Amino acid sequence: MSEKAWEQLRGWGRDPATVAVLTDIDGVLAPIVPTPDMSEVPEELRKLLRRLSEKYRVVSGISGRAAEDALRLLGLEEIVYCGNHGFEVLRPGGEVEIVPEAKPYKEKIEELEAKAREELEPLGAFVEEKGITASIHYRNVSPEISERCNDFIEREGERLGLRITAGRGVVEARPPIRADKGTATRKVVEEYEPQKALFMGDDTTDLDAFRELEKLREEGVLEEILRIGVESEEGPPEIVSEADLVVEGTDGVEEVLRALNGKG
Ligand SMILES: [Mg+2]
Repeated sequence: MSEKAWEQLRGWGRDPATVAVLTDIDGVLAPIVPTPDMSEVPEELRKLLRRLSEKYRVVSGISGRAAEDALRLLGLEEIVYCGNHGFEVLRPGGEVEIVPEAKPYKEKIEELEAKAREELEPLGAFVEEKGITASIHYRNVSPEISERCNDFIEREGERLGLRITAGRGVVEARPPIRADKGTATRKVVEEYEPQKALFMGDDTTDLDAFRELEKLREEGVLEEILRIGVESEEGPPEIVSEADLVVEGTDGVEEVLRALNGKG
């Protein structure tokens, strides 16, 4: 199976103007490091991606990071960034845009942030402003205070019509619409109209992109797709079982980019 996928990749490399190259960033182009602000993209990968952006229909970095942050990490002005769980798009030379469906919620997110800063920060919580989503962190506070944070965001989220998701020591408020790497993938494909598209990913949220590619092919929007899984110990098993091609780490990703550059 994998030899066939490599053959397909090389074939795409001979007809790049019809192909979209979509990729996750952390764990794919940037090796996983202890904290996200330590991440770096190897210079060789950056060079290969820059070359792809000159001849492919579109190259897009699709990330959970804010779009601006993804641009800073990758350092390539030439590609399209979809950031913040698919809520943001940043095109070459443009400014960050919030997807139209989410825009009506921007003011509500800001209202929640302001109120959380006033009520929760004095108690030891930290409000992280992420544009169209807001995160309230309350690690290292007493159980009583973490409960107050939870109650606050549940009450305010409901009042403002936002979706609330809870993690360990963090709650997040976001617009109540579907936005993920799958919706981002569809947006890029519909906007740039490639005939073929690939996505490289290493984690659970990347499976949404894999599955959306499959749908786009079933709908006849795409003629061919390639789902490339970057295998790691921490990654979910589906990143391997749902992939057409499995590679290991940034070295494997480099091989893929070389093949796309006609040097495989
Ligand atoms: Mg990743």
